[in-house]
Amino acid sequence: MVLEPVHCPDCDGIEVIKHGTTAAGKQRYRCQNSECERGTFIQEYSYAAYGTQVKQQISEMAMNGSGI
Ligand SMILES: [Zn+2]
Repeated sequence: MVLEPVHCPDCDGIEVIKHGTTAAGKQRYRCQNSECERGTFIQEYSYAAYGTQVKQQISEMAMNGSGI
């Protein structure tokens, strides 16, 4: 487990709670900053080590024709 606080990609705040997972099993978060327009987000971009895996998943999703 990573214990670093999760930052919102929009306001960079750390008032972030877990908000279930995506269909791909990734942790989804929700920003609780009332001044932030962002709803839910996924923190996958910060895990550089998983970059190739994520790219592979994205290309698979694109090939399967699932709209993002
Ligand atoms: Zn935010």
